[in-house]
Amino acid sequence: MKNRYDVIVVGGGAAGMLAAIFAARNGKEVVLLEQNEKLGKKLFITGKGRCNFTNACDTEDLFQNVVTNPKFLYSAFYSFSNQMVMDFFEEIGLPYKVERGNRVFPTSDHSSDVIKVLEREMKKENVEILLNTKVKSLVIENIICKGVVLKDKKRIIADSTIIATGGVSYPRTGACKDGYDFAESAGHSIVKPQPSLVPFELADSCCKDVMGISLKNVSITIYADNKKIHSDFGEMLFTHFGVSGPIIIKASAYIHKYLDKQLSLAIDLKPALDEKQLDDRILKDFKMFQNKQLKNSLDKLLLHSLVPVVLEKSGLDGEKKINELTKEERKVLGQTIKNLSFTITGLRGFDEAIITKGGVKVKEVDPGTMESKLVGGLYFAGEVLDLDALTGGFNLQIAWSTGYLAGVSC
Ligand SMILES: Cc1cc2nc3c(=O)[nH]c(=O)nc-3n(C[C@H](O)[C@H](O)[C@H](O)COP(=O)(O)OP(=O)(O)OC[C@H]3O[C@@H](n4cnc5c(N)ncnc54)[C@H](O)[C@@H]3O)c2cc1C
Repeated sequence: MKNRYDVIVVGGGAAGMLAAIFAARNGKEVVLLEQNEKLGKKLFITGKGRCNFTNACDTEDLFQNVVTNPKFLYSAFYSFSNQMVMDFFEEIGLPYKVERGNRVFPTSDHSSDVIKVLEREMKKENVEILLNTKVKSLVIENIICKGVVLKDKKRIIADSTIIATGGVSYPRTGACKDGYDFAESAGHSIVKPQPSLVPFELADSCCKDVMGISLKNVSITIYADNKKIHSDFGEMLFTHFGVSGPIIIKASAYIHKYLDKQLSLAIDLKPALDEKQLDDRILKDFKMFQNKQLKNSLDKLLLHSLVPVVLEKSGLDGEKKINELTKEERKVLGQTIKNLSFTITGLRGFDEAIITKGGVKVKEVDPGTMESKLVGGLYFAGEVLDLDALTGGFNLQIAWSTGYLAGVSC
């Protein structure tokens, strides 16, 4: 290790490795500092170990999938678009495939291959990689960033320092708040970090009874103080604490600003049927079960394990015989099936969050270069910034695009 380089990259994740490669390709002498014993620990677990590394949608559609500050990403996404990401990986030796929803994966289905090609490319470009190297603070003199201080108080000096330290979700990958501390020491504001793309906790104790049950083709609606704020259709599942699954994880990206309100989740178990069609269907089933109890008459319509939940929510007596049920009670049953309602008590924590919402305020960063507007020579890239997107490869696209821009700009 020397004590002077052109560029220091702090963080050996997606954004940091891209920044290092492109700074080096621009002829810079680059050092990458990673606190972990290996590179890309978070990348390794992405896409359930398969790494959904971008999305092959039209570049314009990337913006619709960014939840926070999409406009800030205009230059980044057009300087290093999703197509350029795919071309880049192919060029450095990673064949890819496109799956449902335009999700892009390495052909091998191994996230380790993504890390492998990035590491190989960094070595090819003579990036010096220092593992087990934790940055403690920045060296800032006269509003210019001059480099970093390591754990052992050793200083490394450089013209440019790129902070690519990621968010705080999944701390077991080394995720920590260091990047925010560095930014604050340079005078930057931090938008409160919050877990996002994360399951919901529900107040209802009945969740435990249906834990593990997966619901396909259901509609959900989220209400804040009884006002509809989000709806979706697809797959979800019950867990021991509440609900998870694709449409719940996606919904979590939209509810942060309502967390101080009364939040509820309504599940429509039969979205393909309107109330009249559902009533006809219930009547048809009930004709077959005239002498059975209500609790034993719903298995054709609902998953067996959901029956007690629906009955509890409806307030109907499951012991009652079908031929004793009033029209009004049948109507209540139909309404409950179409509007199974739960109180949301909150989101799960950073341990389970795919992404961190919040981070370095983007107004204080130049969107054309990723350089700090407050301190010269200081750059930010990736999840450390107040940027987050939906699942589907969009968060890694943010990391690659901002990493690229920081790398070529510094
Ligand atoms: C379970 C899971 C699955 C995911 N799946 C996908 C997916 O399939 N597709 C997708 O697009 N996104 C996915 N994401 C999100 C994606 O992983 C992140 O958005 C992305 O990794 C962010 O990249 P980054 O480089 O900004 O941060 P990171 O990848 O977190 O890298 C930051 C690095 O900085 C290092 N670091 C931090 N502080 C210091 C310090 N003081 N000194 C030295 N090093 C430091 C950390 O150790 C870390 O290696 C997933 C996330 C999770 C948790």
